[in-house]
Amino acid sequence: MGRVPYWNIHHGVLIDLLSIPAMAIFAYGLFCHWQRIRQGKARVSLGLPLTAMKIGPLYIRSFLTKGIVGTRIYKKLCTGIAHGLLLWGMVVLGVGTVLVILNVLFGLPVFSGEFNHWFMGCALDAAGIGALAGVLFLLIRRLFPPERLTCFRANSGFILIEAVIIAILVTGFFVEGLRIAQNGPDPGSFAGNWLAPLLANAGSLSSLHRCLWWVHGIMVLSLIAYLPWSPLVHLVLAPINAGLDLPLPGPKMGVIDFEAFEGEGDEVPSLGISKVADLSWKNLLDISTCLRCGRCHEVCPAAQTGKSLSPKNIMVTLGDYFQQNKLEDDTLLETVATETIYSCTTCAACMEACPVSINQPNAILGMRQNLLMERSDIPGIMGQAHRSLEARHHPFVGTGFGPNDWRKGLDVPIFEQGKTEYLLWIGCSVAYEERTQSIGRAMVNILKAAGVSFGILEENRCTGDPAKQMGNEFLFSEIAGENIEEFKSLGVTTIITLCPHCYNSFTSHYPLLGGTFSVIPHAVFLRNLITVGTIRMKNNGESICYHDPCYLGRHNNILSEPRDVVSSVGRLVEMKRHGLESFCCGAGGGNYWTEEEGTRINQNRAKEAFDTGATTIATSCPFCMLMLTDGLKKFTEDQMIKDIAELVYSQMEV
Ligand code: SF4
Ligand code: SF4
Repeated sequence: MGRVPYWNIHHGVLIDLLSIPAMAIFAYGLFCHWQRIRQGKARVSLGLPLTAMKIGPLYIRSFLTKGIVGTRIYKKLCTGIAHGLLLWGMVVLGVGTVLVILNVLFGLPVFSGEFNHWFMGCALDAAGIGALAGVLFLLIRRLFPPERLTCFRANSGFILIEAVIIAILVTGFFVEGLRIAQNGPDPGSFAGNWLAPLLANAGSLSSLHRCLWWVHGIMVLSLIAYLPWSPLVHLVLAPINAGLDLPLPGPKMGVIDFEAFEGEGDEVPSLGISKVADLSWKNLLDISTCLRCGRCHEVCPAAQTGKSLSPKNIMVTLGDYFQQNKLEDDTLLETVATETIYSCTTCAACMEACPVSINQPNAILGMRQNLLMERSDIPGIMGQAHRSLEARHHPFVGTGFGPNDWRKGLDVPIFEQGKTEYLLWIGCSVAYEERTQSIGRAMVNILKAAGVSFGILEENRCTGDPAKQMGNEFLFSEIAGENIEEFKSLGVTTIITLCPHCYNSFTSHYPLLGGTFSVIPHAVFLRNLITVGTIRMKNNGESICYHDPCYLGRHNNILSEPRDVVSSVGRLVEMKRHGLESFCCGAGGGNYWTEEEGTRINQNRAKEAFDTGATTIATSCPFCMLMLTDGLKKFTEDQMIKDIAELVYSQMEV
């Protein structure tokens, strides 16, 4: 006998009618989330409407890849496969259920021919088994959790959900098996056909079938209605969050428009984030979407070296305040703690690891802005560097070098308006530390040998980026504004940078202050010179391990160019954590100027590089060079760290 929908069920249409209130409760739940999230402030403008045509497709791509396909979930293979089996299994089963309803209501012929065999039989059984395997794996892992799931509170709501899904799937198979036991085999329904003989002696098959059918149906409807109030709401919020996430790498903080504050009347808006009410709607969407999976905690250099900061804990704390409606409660920063907020190196590893596209550094840096600009609260050495920035426009407190000492004895052309093509931007990190000065000198010598038209500023300057990372937007705007004026007066159009922080500032923040220039990081410029044959390299085959600076790799997706340079002078060796999964050197976010507690981040990273057995460790950031040089002292006295400009200069054929 062929399959008869609602066989053995009296008043089966009731389940269809019950789906209406279930869907209404589901929709109301989502409406409540929307009402709460829309309380957030507007997101800081990044001037993206100007490039809407270019940016628009990227939003769509982010929605489809990170949101719908969930590409980041699969970075953890076993968990990813389990999630995939569960999610896509449930989607296929959902489609099957809708087809059954369409058959009942409109006679859609889904129970005949090949379609019945392959989809309604075989595919639905396979989807059910896959989903069951997936959810069992997830439940077992939840009962025996890794530390990342339990630290700073586990999301225990998942256990009930997973148990209910297992019950739904198991009762579904039993309903099918009992029906087949009574009516004979279904084409393609391999699981039901296998189960049926085992149930054949289970007593009154039709009563049992009817009972389980109702239990199964009511559990499905209850799950749908409960979904918005459960952690499963991420099924809806995660794709939305991915689709609304800025489709650009890194936290992309934007700039504060201080002029807009002038028209705000008596009520002075707070700078940065001091309470939940200061968060943007995107921050609130992030908080509502967080799964507490702890993937961010696992990759955070601060959390992994014993600091008080964990991006997961930041999300949990903000989530608690939000859930308890403490929107105006200004104890938030005391609860999170100053030291925690300043421990963030802004490395963006948490963003890269997060499966639901959350921008954790954006909230952390917002809190830092409030600490510094409203409370002048900044810890010890970083505070000194900040005061140096204010007084001398560079943060290298205690340096004995002047801005132009790095080029003593070297003939370096000065940028001339209308004559020079490239401005070689030196920046503070190359100028004020002895070890990094040779990066500037190497680059000058390479450019001269290559016959490039370049020049430097007469008086070396800082981009202001350290001020921004420490949270002082006023100071950053002031320094950046002066630089932009100078560039414009000199007719600068194209800038070569030596430091990824300068590159990021020029490309991500300066355009928002009216300074749009073409900017090329030296890793890319060197790669281009080598590729077109302007300079030729001797490859001596030595093993060179490359450390990705966060502001070049994760913040700007520049990964292959420095590797091409390294491969032109030696044999590239990779660390376990490299590329987008690279581990920070510890300097970012102003943490070059800090007294670290716990294990030092630079030692952690230097050891990983040292353990590759490479003879040289290359990087393309002066801060990374300084941090790794210091970190490596614990393991060897050899000077193994080199910037790629130094490598190129030492192995150029002249
Ligand atoms: S922020 Fe993202 S990675 Fe971190 S716990 Fe939440 S969902 Fe997981
Ligand atoms: S940006 Fe880096 S240091 Fe900051 S919370 Fe994220 S992973 Fe941790």
